[in-house]
Order: sequence, then structure tokens, then C-alpha cells
Amino acid sequence: MFKKILIANRGEIALRVICACKELGIKTVAVYSEADRHSLHVRFADEAVCIGPAKSARSYLDIPSVISAAEITNVDAIHPGYGFLSENANFAEVCETSGLTFIGPKPDVIRTMGSKQLAREAMAKAGLPIVPGSAGIVESPEHGLETAAKIGYPVILKATAGGGGRGMRVVNEASELPGMLAQAQAEAGGAFACPDVYVEKYIRKPRHIEFQVLADQHGNVEILGERECSIQRRHQKLIEESPSPRVSPELRQEMTARLKVAMKEVGYTNAGTVEFLMDEDGSLYFIEVNARVQVEHPVTELVTGIDIVKAQIRIAAGEPLSAILTEPVTIRGHAIECRINAENPDTFAPSAGRITGLNLPGGIGVRVDTWAYTDCVVPPYYDSLVAKLICFGKDRSEAITRSLRALDMFIVEGIHTSIPLHHRILSDPEFQSGDIDTGYIARFLAKK
Ligand code: ADP
Repeated sequence: MFKKILIANRGEIALRVICACKELGIKTVAVYSEADRHSLHVRFADEAVCIGPAKSARSYLDIPSVISAAEITNVDAIHPGYGFLSENANFAEVCETSGLTFIGPKPDVIRTMGSKQLAREAMAKAGLPIVPGSAGIVESPEHGLETAAKIGYPVILKATAGGGGRGMRVVNEASELPGMLAQAQAEAGGAFACPDVYVEKYIRKPRHIEFQVLADQHGNVEILGERECSIQRRHQKLIEESPSPRVSPELRQEMTARLKVAMKEVGYTNAGTVEFLMDEDGSLYFIEVNARVQVEHPVTELVTGIDIVKAQIRIAAGEPLSAILTEPVTIRGHAIECRINAENPDTFAPSAGRITGLNLPGGIGVRVDTWAYTDCVVPPYYDSLVAKLICFGKDRSEAITRSLRALDMFIVEGIHTSIPLHHRILSDPEFQSGDIDTGYIARFLAKK
């Protein structure tokens, strides 16, 4: 087992990894930017190294700085968390050549999964149903028009390197396609340094359903059930739950069997998520793989009792899944996660600043993963996630009621947060019915 791990991240996920390491008896090294000097991950790690100024390009994304910090502190491995360098195949390779274990899949697998287009090809080959779409990138407006005509409108243009809901455009008719293709390519080029775009069928009123994978380095794969992440604003998740109200035990069993085969075939190792869209008929279509731990992993932890981050570390150290998962995976009860963002709940404008007062809810079935404390400053440089409220209940209805009372007891003063928005959504009969799709938030906001 590793003796010391460097965490190449900040915020709640850096703390989450520190928790796992403490429980495994592993020492930790935090890295931080000048803006995060007073952060809790710096305080709770055994050692901490400042790796640069606030701007992430010069700190959390700066590979030489992170590797130097790992070398001077003499760590065995690096946990990348999510975001930042977590899906950077080049970084994973540099770790390996520097004699450091990268806690994640192998660089070539990260590279394939990092391209939505290559991932689609790999998953189709491995036997999973994919969203109907172009066989390769869209070379020209004419090529796009020809492919879209074959698929049938509406279609969606997507950046192969895309993430965070950027670089996507829904095209309702042929006349819109050339303009939207140029926009999607420009956005993708700017955000991901790769303008490649492909086209797929736009699924109407889909549910976003994703499966949690754990795979060891000995060819064993386990699936930890699914998460429903249909509550999204502008393709970004706000509320996630497990299990999905729409996935039957039979469908879960079938997908588990198919995914075990597919993930083994692509040589997947460590933790990952396979994302699908479910159409109105209940059919699932693959969209992408996230080759890292997800923000929403705690809902799976609560219903399976499996510590996903500890599993990641043990897998990276070479342990077989049989030693990590000592019992068959079972899903018990229901868990819901609300992402508490530092933003205005009505306008969604970011709300950085000092948290002047804070009360974190607790009690039975309530988990809060956060880096916030009274008097901490939410910097404007990074994503707006301040806390995750994750509530567990014996069923969906109890998980909702518990989340509502925890939201009542969750007080953040000094900045705006999405707490009031979550309260309204969880009180909404449409949400409570479980009959939700990715268009829910747009409808909900229009209703007000
Ligand atoms: P990103 O990597 O940017 O998060 P994804 O491929 O995971 O992009 O898609 C994010 C969201 O965009 C999905 O959860 C869904 O709401 C919407 N979306 C993506 N592809 C389609 C599609 N073919 N049809 C309808 N909605 C889609």
C-alpha cells in the first residue's frame, strides 16, 4: 500500500480524498494556489505545497508544478480528484514516467474516453447501444447536412473533447446547421483547444442515467448500480439520486452484465462512470465515459455502503476487487444529492465572497461534503460548488423529506447559494412524482 499520496485538487474533493487516506493510514500532501492558502484541505493534509498563483492554468493545471511538489515531498501516488488534471492523459503519463502511480485508468484508456467520438466507437464495438450519429467528426457544413439528414432532425452537435456542457448546439432544421456548426467549433476550439465536432440524434425529453464502475488491474469489473442525473441546468447537474426511479431491477441487472463485459473489453481500470440517455420508451443510449471519480459519487456510496475513493486507492495499489468488495453489491434505500453552489438562486450569477455565518445540517441520514467554514472566502477563480448535501432515506419519499428538513437547517450567510432553489425543486410535485427528464429545470423556471 502507498505511504503518501499527493492530492492534485482543491475544495471538497481534496478533503474527500484526505478522509479516505486518513482511514487507510496513508499520509497526504495538499497542493494549493495562493488563493487557497487558508483552505481546509491545506489544514487537514499532513503536508502542503503552494504551487502557484490563483489562476488554475498556473497552479492546479500546471503539470511541472504538481510533479515538482510530488517529488520534493516524496509521495508514491497522485489522486487527481475530478476536473483539473483528472482526465488529462498526458498528466497520467508524466506521473508514470516520474515513477508516481496515477490513481485512475491507464493513459491510453483516458485518451480514448476523453474523446467522445473515440469512446462512442469503442463502446459500440464492445456491444453497447450508442446514440445514432456520425461515424466520425463533421468535416464540413455539407458533411454535417448529409449526416443530419440521415439521422433525422433534431440533431445535436457536440465537441469531441467537450465537458461541462460546453460546445453543444441543438439543431432543429437544416437551415440552422451551418451557423451552429461554426459556433460549436469556435466554442470547442476556445474551451478545449480542439475544434472537432460530431453530430448525434437529439433525444427528446431524455433522462440522464449513469452507471458507476469499479475495475481492478486483474480484469475484474463491478457495477455499483446507477444514478439519475436528469435535474440539470444548461447541461450541468444540480441534483442527483440513486437508484433511478425509472430503472427496474431487471434493467439494472441487464446493464450490469453488459457493462462488465464492455469495460473489461476496453481495458478499463479504477473508478469510472458510463453515462447514458434514456428515451421516452425507456431505451438507454451511451453518451460518454467519465474516467474519474464523479461529483455525485456519494449517492452511490450511501446506497451501496462502498467507499468509492478508498476503492480507487486500493485498486491503484494493485489490490483485487475481491479483497475490496467482500460482499455482493446490493442497493439499499435511496439517496439524493443537492449541489450547493455559490450563486444567486434566481439569476444563477456567481456569488463569490466571505461566508460570514454557517450552520451545517446533521442528524440521521444526512451527509455534508464541504470545504466551507465560517469566515472562509469563496474565491471567484474556480467552480462555484461550496457543498454537497447528501441525504439517505429508506425510500425516495423519505430521502426527499429528509433533504427538505436538512435544507431548512442549512444556513450560509454572506454569499448567495442555491439552497432556496433546491428547496423549491424538492417541494415540487413534478419532481416528487419521479417523472423527470433533462428539460425539467427549464420547465420549472418558466412556471415561476
Ligand atoms: P458534457 O461532457 O459536456 O457533460 P455530455 O455528453 O455528458 O456532455 O452531455 C451532457 C448533457 O447534455 C446530457 O446529460 C444531456 O442532458 C444533454 N445531451 C447530450 N447529448 C444529448 C443528446 N444526444 N440528446 C439530448 N440531450 C443530450
